[in-house]
Formats: sequence, structure tokens, C-alpha cells
Amino acid sequence: MKLLPLTPDGQTPVRVLTIAGTDSGGGAGIQADSRTMALCGVHACVAVAAVTVQNSVGVSGFHEIPPETVAAQVRCVVDDIGVGAAKTGMLASTAIIEAVAAVCTEVGIGRDKPVPLVVDPVCASMHGDPLLHAEALDAVRNTLIPIATVVTPNLDEIRLITGIEVVDDPTARRAAEALHALGAQWSIVKGGHLRTSASSTDLLFDGDTFLEFSSPRIDTGNDHGGGDTLAAAIASALAHGWSVPDAVAFGKEWVTKCLEASYDLGAGHGPVSPLWRLRHP
Ligand code: PLP
Repeated sequence: MKLLPLTPDGQTPVRVLTIAGTDSGGGAGIQADSRTMALCGVHACVAVAAVTVQNSVGVSGFHEIPPETVAAQVRCVVDDIGVGAAKTGMLASTAIIEAVAAVCTEVGIGRDKPVPLVVDPVCASMHGDPLLHAEALDAVRNTLIPIATVVTPNLDEIRLITGIEVVDDPTARRAAEALHALGAQWSIVKGGHLRTSASSTDLLFDGDTFLEFSSPRIDTGNDHGGGDTLAAAIASALAHGWSVPDAVAFGKEWVTKCLEASYDLGAGHGPVSPLWRLRHP
């Protein structure tokens, strides 16, 4: 696979800003984003939106950061450091989504802006524990997705956001169209959770053309943080100046390698791991 270039020692790498939640277990959220970004040759900047109390078994609670503090983190990073792409993950509430959308628009992050934005509309953990208040779904639909350069929901999130149950290729295409109609410039429908074939196919749609990205299905229970890792890899490739289709192709290969390298951790689901990149020439 074609990897993203690592910056020579002493040179400033490209930067990506992740606006998301922390995972005390170190498997998903900001911890997964930062690991993938570092191993994609990117300096990760971080705007913390929520702190989760989490291990491999589940999420037992979370603390929301005040919306104005989330927005202030975004503004101060962009003003001083500058970023080549941004990514949202767990945003928890309507108030945080509205603050993030407003500051992104103000500083030039989002579709039709200088800095592309990957929106991972995180709703719940793989254990089913909520990471977004139910009433914030309207803000996801009407405020967050309309500023997305790329939106990357999983099948559960697609059902909550669009009402569409993706079970096959025609329903996946309908879901991609529905996400695009909500205002995302590009929509992705991830096939990883559609356990009907030996391969996993993601669908990318720009309102005109469907592109497909397939990989072998990696059967592992250790897939915690997989969605974050895909979106972080796409954002990293965009920051390196890659096109959206090239960035999505890269993200798909990246997360497949990370699933192959995943490991056991605790009594529940272990994390996908980008650490294979350390041993790769
Ligand atoms: N915790 C945080 C903070 C997250 O952002 C996410 C996912 O985006 C998760 C947990 C859930 O990850 P998973 O669905 O891989 O368990």
C-alpha cells in the first residue's frame, strides 16, 4: 500500500485537528485519532469535547466540556498553529455541535472552506453505550453533516440519522444519497458491519458518482476504535493534499492493516492498532 510520507526530523509536519472525546482505555476517540495521525506523519492537535469513563467492557459515563471551551480550543489552534484538515468524533450534545459548527465556519473549516472536515457522527460505542444525547440527532442532521467535506457513519449511525436500514447494495446506495442530501459533500457508507460477504465494501458518493472500496473482511472482536481510525486516516491524507477518493482508499487500507494488527486488551473488545507502521520500512 502507498503510505503517507513521514516528515524528516526537525521539519514541521502537516497538522490535523481532532475535535472529539477521550477514551480512558486508550482504544478509541482522541487516543485512536492521535496514534493514527502520528503514524501517518501528522502532528495531531486536539480539541477535547468530552471525557469518557471507559474500558474494554464499556463506557460507564462521560463529562462534557463547556461548548465555549471546545470552540476556544479550535480557534486558538487554528489562529496559531494552522491545520490542513480537521475531524470531528464524539461531540455529545446539541450545544457542543452548534458551538463546533459555528467556530469551524468562522475559521474556515468545512465543505467549501479552505480546510476539509471529516465528520464521524459518533452516536454510541460498540457496546451500545450512548456517546450522544438522543435529542442531539437533529443537530447532527441539520448542523453538523451540512458542513462535512466527508461524513463517515457506521450502519447503526446511518439508521439513527436517516432511518434507512442498510442490508445490501441498493439500501447502501440509498443511504449514501440520503447523507449527501443532508448536505455532506461526500458520504461514505461503511460495509464493515454488513456481515453478508467475505469482503468489506465501503461506498463513497459525491452526489453524482458511486465509488467502491473493498478489502478482505478481518474477523476479529478487537475492533474498538475502528471508525475513529478510518476517519483519522482519511483526515491525515486530506491534510497531505490527497483527493477525497484517494484519501478514502488510503483510509480503507489503513484500517484493514490496523484490524489485522489489533490485540486483546482487558476482558472486552481490544483496539485496532496502527503500531504495525512502526515496523514498516
Ligand atoms: N469512545 C469515544 C470517545 C469515541 O469517540 C468512540 C467512537 O468513535 C468510541 C468510544 C466508540 O468506539 P467503538 O465504536 O469502536 O467502540
